[in-house]
Amino acid sequence: MHRIFAHHEEIAGDRVIITGQRAHHMSRVLRMSCGDVFVVVAPGGQQWTAQLEEIDSEVLTGRLLHERPRSTEPSLHVTLAMAILKGDKMDWVIQKATELGVHRLVPVMCQRSVTRIPPNKVSARTKRWQRIALQAAGQSQRCAVPIVSSPRPLGSVLEEVSPVSIMAYEGESQKGLPQVLTDPSPSQVTLLIGPEGGFAPEEVEEARCRGVGTVGLGPRILRAETAALALLSMVMFRWGDLGHAAAASLECPDMPDEHPE
Ligand code: SAH
Repeated sequence: MHRIFAHHEEIAGDRVIITGQRAHHMSRVLRMSCGDVFVVVAPGGQQWTAQLEEIDSEVLTGRLLHERPRSTEPSLHVTLAMAILKGDKMDWVIQKATELGVHRLVPVMCQRSVTRIPPNKVSARTKRWQRIALQAAGQSQRCAVPIVSSPRPLGSVLEEVSPVSIMAYEGESQKGLPQVLTDPSPSQVTLLIGPEGGFAPEEVEEARCRGVGTVGLGPRILRAETAALALLSMVMFRWGDLGHAAAASLECPDMPDEHPE
């Protein structure tokens, strides 16, 4: 079933009204017509089965028939604070982290970051990352799109990390994930991954002062993107829903590619 991500204001009572490119796509590309059934996903992840009442290339109206279970969202909210990486590696991390169930992505500027986004390109880059998250959310049948914030300096990220926060640090020889993941599951966790050159010692110190736990991820040095997905996978396995039996209620084999403009 086609899945459409709607803005809050597009849903009122038992109606959804969608305009612009998404209406055009449903009418002209998917050739949907009155009576067809589709899925509406609200920004918070609530979703309904809806039926098309009216459609043309500019606007569509649907009636919400019944609410659907939010079966694909993990109850664990993971924020991945990821140092901005070179080339298209950041795109890749955003896409894969979305598939693995990340809740929020924060691109981070660190002392040793080699990639600096010029101020006039920040907005376009953030939108591009949001688009990648949106497409990956649709493709992996998520019920909510991860939030991608604009890039922030590490210092400001450290000011508001979750009570449970884990920084991957290759210099940590005392503590690994087996010790950390024995704690009972928190509802939120922040994961921090450094840039290609690693975190600077002062950054690691500042993080520790803020209560962030540093962990080693094993004896080998991983590329930052590998470290991000390895850490996210292990946390989602232990505290989230990764590795569990597949959801029995998935009924949306289509690959949705529509989103709020
Ligand atoms: N330049 C550093 C490695 C940086 S790897 C060096 O050569 O020593 C990039 C990021 O991946 C690091 O900042 C860290 O967050 C993560 N990382 C890579 N390997 C890791 C490991 N074995 N343990 C913990 N974190 C690791």
